[in-house]
Amino acid sequence: MLKFLLQKKNNCTSCKEKFRTSEELLKHAKEIHKQIIRKCSNCGKQFLSEKERLHHMKEEKQREIDYRRHKNLK
Ligand SMILES: [Zn+2]
Ligand SMILES: [Zn+2]
Repeated sequence: MLKFLLQKKNNCTSCKEKFRTSEELLKHAKEIHKQIIRKCSNCGKQFLSEKERLHHMKEEKQREIDYRRHKNLK
């Protein structure tokens, strides 16, 4: 049962190769498949798809809004 909770899969979508970390997968996709890596303009985190990047940036933005709102309450 624990196995399911261990980690999300880092599988290459192009050749189905598996990686232990997302960093390894990113490196592989970039070097082997010449995939374009997208970066978050706020924190520099890298993503394989625009969808993932936008999702991350949306979350980051929301966190910033929450933080400001919290600060203004005081
Ligand atoms: Zn691959
Ligand atoms: Zn970010």
